[in-house]
Amino acid sequence: MVKDIQHVDVLIIGGGVVGSAILREVARYSARVVLLERNPDVCEGTSKSNSAIVHTGFDAPPGTLEARLLAGARELWPQVIEHLHIPYLQTGALLIATSDEELATLQNEITPKAERNGVTLSPLTRDEILENAPYINPAIKGGALVEGEGIIDPFWTTRAYCENAVLNGAQVFTGVTVTGMSVEENCISVHTNDGLTFAASLVVNAAGLWSDEVARLAGDHSFALTPRKGQFILIEEDHGVSHIILPIPNRISKGILVTPIIFGGVMLGPTAEDVQDKSDLATTAAGLQQIRQGIARLAPAMAGAASARQFAGLRAVSSTGDYIIRFSTASERLLHVAGIRSTGLSASPAIGRYVADLARDQLGLALRANFIEELPEYLSETHPNEGDVICLCRSITRGEILAALRSPLPPETLDGLKRRTGAMLGDCQGNICMPRLMQLFQQQRGSDLLALNKNYDGSSPVVARVPGREGV
Ligand SMILES: Cc1cc2nc3c(=O)[nH]c(=O)nc-3n(C[C@H](O)[C@H](O)[C@H](O)COP(=O)(O)OP(=O)(O)OC[C@H]3O[C@@H](n4cnc5c(N)ncnc54)[C@H](O)[C@@H]3O)c2cc1C
Repeated sequence: MVKDIQHVDVLIIGGGVVGSAILREVARYSARVVLLERNPDVCEGTSKSNSAIVHTGFDAPPGTLEARLLAGARELWPQVIEHLHIPYLQTGALLIATSDEELATLQNEITPKAERNGVTLSPLTRDEILENAPYINPAIKGGALVEGEGIIDPFWTTRAYCENAVLNGAQVFTGVTVTGMSVEENCISVHTNDGLTFAASLVVNAAGLWSDEVARLAGDHSFALTPRKGQFILIEEDHGVSHIILPIPNRISKGILVTPIIFGGVMLGPTAEDVQDKSDLATTAAGLQQIRQGIARLAPAMAGAASARQFAGLRAVSSTGDYIIRFSTASERLLHVAGIRSTGLSASPAIGRYVADLARDQLGLALRANFIEELPEYLSETHPNEGDVICLCRSITRGEILAALRSPLPPETLDGLKRRTGAMLGDCQGNICMPRLMQLFQQQRGSDLLALNKNYDGSSPVVARVPGREGV
């Protein structure tokens, strides 16, 4: 049943890093802008399960839109990081050749390609690499330094894009699935699972791996996406890793890497496996074994390291081999931003800008005079009367929890609070602090404890009220 119709200028489907970056850039204009995300929080799709590298784009196919936008993003990142206070470390990457053939590929194919993409690779001898990174396999033949590569927090990035947009008047609806679209003469009507209808002058389809299915809702069958799984192993011990360690990339993927994590630990992986099911996030014994074999060639000491956690993400592979950023065949009021396979995090500032320019031209939008460029550093603000430590493992204070609950895009779930503050991420995994966190949630957001989920619907840690103690 249709409950309501909301008229908006730009409606973005998908709260991954791409949709969120677009939201921030469109929010620069005087326009009514909304983003709809079907998960309970932003950054729950591919954007949360990746290598978290800001790539330079040295190995992107030259001349493609992907290469162009990666080059544009290199210019934009310093300001985005500064204004949104995103944790980022420019570690540089060591590109490692493990055989004479790989060394020849590096010199004859990859280095000239990088130059065409505007990225300089500095050649390194085997000895220079081992001096910088003694954990590398001494049997390697040589390599190169890619200075501009760095590591970032993808969730922080996505959340910060959205929060900045919300501060500038945009709206984010989580837990809302787009289930239908009807192309009208002057707008597209977008229907959702909870009976809402939005009449949008422009719809941006940034639904990640599901963008082809969203396109079909409007009768557009012009492209298809298939999932390519990447499994990871996360290890606690850092083995002294201070660079990203890259093998020589192949046609299918960037290969199996060693990546330091911005908050500590190291990620090994990913695999690149074409699968059928867009929800298949399972790790497999064969996949994990493949990671360990790949790592054994680069950094043997890490190949047998104990896994603290393992997980998988799904790349959205398009039939075109490039980003698909174009208007739909069904309507010029629907703009696809799809097939953002392996570099969406890195290119996100430039994708946002590129799409906002298209939206501006299409709708004749004018820049807002009072755009707030910088996000307040609310999580590190001091709250003199709120210094109690709530999460003992990670020393997270009541003030930090309250700041997250009062932020422009507050969490809707306990996992959302965990990802914003780090509470419940320590050794006890929330066993000690969760009841106090739930109480704060209830006080600040008026949440019913029975309905306060850990993540998805029905995952509340509270199963029932004890009769006679309802107020507790
Ligand atoms: C293994 C692996 C490693 C990678 N490593 C890197 C890296 O190091 N650096 C890098 O730059 N990139 C990397 N990537 C690529 C990067 O993660 C993606 O390009 C990027 O996350 C894509 O973002 P997105 O917003 O398009 O998709 P998503 O994050 O998947 O967001 C799409 C959103 O749309 C929502 N949605 C879908 N359908 C609907 C609907 N009907 N209604 C409402 N919402 C809907 C989904 O719930 C989802 O949240 C990697 C990817 C993988 C899988």
